Amino acid sequence: MTSIHTMTLKELADNLANKTFSSVEITKHFLERIKKLDKTYNSFITLTEDQALMQAKLADEKRQKGQATPLTGLPIAHKDIFCTKGVKTSCGSKMLDNFIAPYNSTMVSQVEEAGMVMLGKTNMDEFAMGSSNETSFYGPVKNPWNIETVPGGSSGGSAAAVAARLAPCSTGTDTGGSIRQPAALCGITGLKPTYGRVSRYGMIAFASSLDQGGPFAQTAQDVAMLLNAMAGFDTRDSTCVDMPVPDYTTSLHDKIQGKTIGLPKEYFGQGLDKAVEQKVLDAIGVFEKLGCKIKEVSLPSSPLSISVYYVVASAECSSNLSRYDGVRFGYRCKDPLNLEDMYKRSRAEGFGDEVKRRIMVGTYALSTGYYDAYYLKAQKVRKLISNDFKQAFEQVDFLLGPTAPTPAFKIGEKMNDPVSMYLSDIYTIATNLAGLPGLSIPAGFVNDLPIGIQLTGKHFDESTLLNAAHIYQQETDWHKKVPVSCS
Ligand code: GLN
Repeated sequence: MTSIHTMTLKELADNLANKTFSSVEITKHFLERIKKLDKTYNSFITLTEDQALMQAKLADEKRQKGQATPLTGLPIAHKDIFCTKGVKTSCGSKMLDNFIAPYNSTMVSQVEEAGMVMLGKTNMDEFAMGSSNETSFYGPVKNPWNIETVPGGSSGGSAAAVAARLAPCSTGTDTGGSIRQPAALCGITGLKPTYGRVSRYGMIAFASSLDQGGPFAQTAQDVAMLLNAMAGFDTRDSTCVDMPVPDYTTSLHDKIQGKTIGLPKEYFGQGLDKAVEQKVLDAIGVFEKLGCKIKEVSLPSSPLSISVYYVVASAECSSNLSRYDGVRFGYRCKDPLNLEDMYKRSRAEGFGDEVKRRIMVGTYALSTGYYDAYYLKAQKVRKLISNDFKQAFEQVDFLLGPTAPTPAFKIGEKMNDPVSMYLSDIYTIATNLAGLPGLSIPAGFVNDLPIGIQLTGKHFDESTLLNAAHIYQQETDWHKKVPVSCS
């Protein structure tokens, strides 16, 4: 029999609706698993046990009164970048190790209003900068498929928690790939929604024109259920778009026969592991069998996306992170000599190496004399990258390719080589630069490690991606695989 922790969100929801078990029972089950297994994975920074049990009890009462909605009583874990009222919100940094958020981020409130139960806050790369979860102040997260390898990043804790079945779903943020890449490396499903689809209010800012929050779960169907609660307008985020939210679960079963899938030729070239490529080709075969047409397209400017991203993201982060000055938030150094010493040492001691590297790059790119050469130029190339997608979408319904060039790599392997680390996001970053939705789903194994395929869609066309992914998941069972030690 399937046990509680291996069930999908949908299966748990059905069992709650049938009263097979209660939210308190499910919540206790996951909390016990986290306490037992997470010593190995380090996927949580904070466990909110008492609050979770209280929320679960409330959810059960709501159900008794007939007030339950599809997500009521289901547990979720939040990336520690989302402000959670009264709960430590560290962003994976020593800088915010002592920060208790005074309010909830919109995404957290939305799922709370839907009746979900927060299990805790998950580990992440410091300020979401990284692709391996090794830059966290709280230590690296271990990939449940092989604890010598990374889970990906920056939302590594959220992805590992779902892969290890310590939570049925979680939240993440994606600035250049931080939902899709860890989803791929951990063998789960992760969606970066269109920029503006989901509110960024209360989500600690890294690079505001690229950051987007979204869900992780086992299946596209579960992700659709979560997106229903998360999507929507928010007056507190000026970039959030006021557009009706469709019910993402109703179009899941639509036929995908006749859809045209674009394969960006730049995503299949040098740098892509041959075995990973083969798995992507196998997945394309499945879509062909389902009646989809395959068409090669070109995104000629996409090879520049890493360079553009590291100028734009660093520039924005250098501005966003200036608020951590030892005065208003978080860490302050001991016994400062004067104000300047306090600023300098608070930042020098509070931030880790990768964050400092980005702040320096960003400050440089924005400085007089270099602004035009770097920042302005990067913005222009960003537009070209966006235009490439526009042209591709005139010919196809969505794009398909690998999510990451390799399966999970060894912990420590890329820490001293930032450029090779940055290349982990070679296929995901352009999507953020263009503000498009991207979905990663499991598509097989290479060396016993999961790999993912990425579906990229038109602005606000999450439905098409979730529909295609759901149909693919009816034909395959990669998303059902669980690491042996977690089954
Ligand atoms: N790995 C990329 C970076 O380090 C993307 C991170 C993210 O999406 N938050 O910037």
